[in-house]
This record gives sequence, C-alpha cells and structure tokens, in this order.
Amino acid sequence: PPLYLQRYQFVIEYVKRFIPRKVIDLGCADCGLLRKLKFHRNAIEVLAGVDIDCAALRERVNALAPLTIDYLQPSPRPLTIELYQGSVTEREPCTQGFDLVTCMELIEHLQLWEVEGFSNVVFGYMNPCAVIISTPNVEFNPLLPGLRGFRNKDHKFEWTRAEFQTWALGVCMEYGYSVEFTGVGVAPGQNRDVGFCTQIAVFQRDAGVSNGPVNNAVQMEPTVYRLLYRVVY
Ligand code: SAM
Repeated sequence: PPLYLQRYQFVIEYVKRFIPRKVIDLGCADCGLLRKLKFHRNAIEVLAGVDIDCAALRERVNALAPLTIDYLQPSPRPLTIELYQGSVTEREPCTQGFDLVTCMELIEHLQLWEVEGFSNVVFGYMNPCAVIISTPNVEFNPLLPGLRGFRNKDHKFEWTRAEFQTWALGVCMEYGYSVEFTGVGVAPGQNRDVGFCTQIAVFQRDAGVSNGPVNNAVQMEPTVYRLLYRVVY
C-alpha cells in the first residue's frame, strides 16, 4: 500500500490497542486519517481535526457526515467530529484534554525556529496522554528515484534519525514524556541501514504528570481557532 495509507494504518493499529476516547489530528488536510478513524472508532467519542488550510479542510468534509446506517442504528456512544482552522503553533483551549494527538507529516512544513513553539503547544499545553508524530527520514532519500533536494518543495527541513530522536528526547525531558521510535516504508534489499522511509515517534505521558484536570463535561468553545464543521451522531 502507498506510504500515506501505511501511516494511517499505523494510527489505526495504535487506536485498536490503546482505545483512546478523544483523538485530535493536527495538520489533517482533507481529513484522510479522520475519515479512516470514523470506521475504526473502537472507543473514540471525539474526533477532531486542525489545519491551517481552510480549502483543504473543506475538500472532503461531506465524507465525515453520518451515513444512513448511522441513523438506522444509532451508536450508544455518540461520535462528535469537529474541524478547526488554525495553526498548531497557537494555544487553543479546546485542544486540551485529548487522549491522543496525531501529527503526521506536518513538522517539516514548519520553520525550524517554530518547532520549539510547536513542542511547547503540543506537549506543554495540549498535554495529551499520547502523541504520534511522523516526518520524512532524510537518510532514506537516496533510495527515492529521481529525487533531488527535499521530498516536497514546501518542506523547510528533513531530519536524519539522529536529529529526529534528539528533538524527541529533548521534548521528553522537558515535558515529562517517554518515546519509542519506529516507522513505515521499508528499504528494499538487505543491509541497507537507512531506516524507515517515514520515521514515527510515539510519545507517552509519564504517569502522574499532567497539567491538571480538564473538565471533559464542559464543551469548550474555540477562542483562537475557527470552528468550520461540527457533527454529532
Ligand atoms: N496529515 C496529513 C497526512 O498525513 O496525509 C497531511 C499532511 S500535509 C503534508 C501537511 C499539512 O499540514 C497540510 O495540510 C498543511 O496545511 C498543514 N499545516 C502546515 N502548517 C500548519 C500549521 N502551522 N498549523 C496547522 N496545519 C498546518
């Protein structure tokens, strides 16, 4: 399967294993991952998406709407889907209290100097139980035919495994998380120690470390983000 589907599958497997109730996807673009998660809910009750690009968010929004079957067989635990336009470098109250934050192929679109602020927002402010972050592994690039420079012209950087891991371990030290590294997209042939095509870090918040209680019963209104879409079914 194409790499993006392998990334989505990775998240689906994680959700199956750790059964989060509230999941937010940062840089969700046309909601490809959210559309998948809708059919692999397990215990998910809130699915949120954030992107800076309003047109991308709107592109496939209809696919998030309930199907006839959702009306005929309503779920005992309703699903809320919310889409926000906003930047992941800003603190937004309604992004707190999530069990899982996913952020696939976004950080390399930030300027390097914005990454520290991003880490502070995601780990220090949103402070979820778990975070999954993926980014290209630049060490794999020589295996990609015809590629010169970065994989996408909008990428501001692409990291080696060591660079990604240094950043991730720094985040763990600062915000009280532990991390495991993995990836998707295996190099063809043997003995090519270049790592995965996409590198993935899975962070887990340390026990007892939390920014304090977040009242799940209170429906937060966005203050910085713009709510573009909301459906409950
Ligand atoms: N996560 C999706 C996936 O894996 O298929 C889309 C990845 S796409 C390469 C990167 C997305 O990040 C784009 O939709 C872009 O608009 C969004 N993005 C870039 N900078 C952002 C920011 N500061 N805040 C929110 N979204 C941002």
